Amino acid sequence: MQRIAMQLIFALILLCPGLASAAQEPKALPLPDGRYKVDILLVVAHPDDEGAATPYLARALDEGKRVAVVFGTHGSSGANEAGAEQAAALGDVREIEARNALATLGITNVWFLGGKDTASQNVLQSLANWGHGSSLEQLVRIVRLTRPEVILTFLPGTFIGEDHGDHQASGLLATEAFDLAGDPTAFPEQVAGPMKRLEPYLENLRPWQIKKIYYFADADREDIFRGKGPRYSVKDLSKSTKQPYWRMALDSFRSHQTQAKSFLDTIAAMDEAQLEKLVTADGGWTDELQFVLGKSLVGGSVTGDIFDGVTPAAISFARPEVSVEPARPELSVELAGPWSFYGEFRRAHGLTNLPHPEPPEIALQAPGTLVIPLWIRNRTAKAQEVTLTVSLPAGWTAQYGTGKFSVAAKQVAASRIEINLPALAENAPRKSEAQEVTVHAESNGQNVGDLKLRVELRKRALPQ
Ligand SMILES: [Zn+2]
Repeated sequence: MQRIAMQLIFALILLCPGLASAAQEPKALPLPDGRYKVDILLVVAHPDDEGAATPYLARALDEGKRVAVVFGTHGSSGANEAGAEQAAALGDVREIEARNALATLGITNVWFLGGKDTASQNVLQSLANWGHGSSLEQLVRIVRLTRPEVILTFLPGTFIGEDHGDHQASGLLATEAFDLAGDPTAFPEQVAGPMKRLEPYLENLRPWQIKKIYYFADADREDIFRGKGPRYSVKDLSKSTKQPYWRMALDSFRSHQTQAKSFLDTIAAMDEAQLEKLVTADGGWTDELQFVLGKSLVGGSVTGDIFDGVTPAAISFARPEVSVEPARPELSVELAGPWSFYGEFRRAHGLTNLPHPEPPEIALQAPGTLVIPLWIRNRTAKAQEVTLTVSLPAGWTAQYGTGKFSVAAKQVAASRIEINLPALAENAPRKSEAQEVTVHAESNGQNVGDLKLRVELRKRALPQ
């Protein structure tokens, strides 16, 4: 009985060559979802930060580029100009506002890392508050999902400017993701194939190497960024809408009612001529966009177009080149906190050409306190005494952290100097001229460090 059945099957296969070849047809394996592949990934901190790049995004979309945007937080802090909702509820509203703002440009590929707003200029506080590890894991996942050619983000560094720690954190995470997403050993569970159908843990993504990373700065000064990357006019007319790019950015911004209802109500009542006059006077809307090239793995000129050198083929993973640590004297005093971190960060990510102010600078609210974090490094075999003094502008006073300190042999000690900042005069301008503060460090009559810092006093600034 069985033998007859086998013969029948065999005869059927012989008689039907179509059936036989169908049995050998290879099965197509699933590929990444093409709907999420992009050319540009914009990584920013808060809903409305995308405005720093929307005029360029509108131009890139005209050229057929695909764009995705990542927000570090939902923007749940701050005042609500449009309603009573606050905190997490406000964050939910702002997520929709951000999605609507980008949808006006045609961008729907929008993601949120779930970090929490941090009112500080210190990137390290933002990273702690966001959950650095989980935010980075999520951003690497989004890079592997969206497979961008180019990443655009805030410049990780400290400047006199708005200098929001959250903005810096978005640029820092984007830089880390640039170096990690192509590395099969970074978050390997994301790039492992499933062990069986409906496997709930392994993600079946592929490593992805981004080709270029560009930054835009949250700084008042522009001099140190000129010539470091391409500039784009926002006054050029869009091929698709026949409007200037600044105008498309403004229309996109109209979704941010909770952040700017009074401004948006004013412009809603304006005709075209009034609108143009307003934004030209304000400057912020019509200034050229300056990008800074962070890294390119595909060549192209520094000030050339963002897509210079980018071709469609994927490139292989490139481990970043770490620059050597500079030689330090046996006994030294250095600025710590974000300042020393960024020096190490630039070396670790091959970003030694990234512009940063020298001497370091910060804008602070006055009256208030300037905290100068310090590392005192003693590499000698015996305890050392270090005397810290500080040179200050008139009216500024050291309230903590000067005097004589001892550091044990082969130890690095953290210290800090706190300076009282005087109030600004009633009629003083909103910003003042930056002034210089110098920390002098001496040991056994020898100078072991002169650290300079430029400090601008303001009536309002984010906490240090
Ligand atoms: Zn922001």
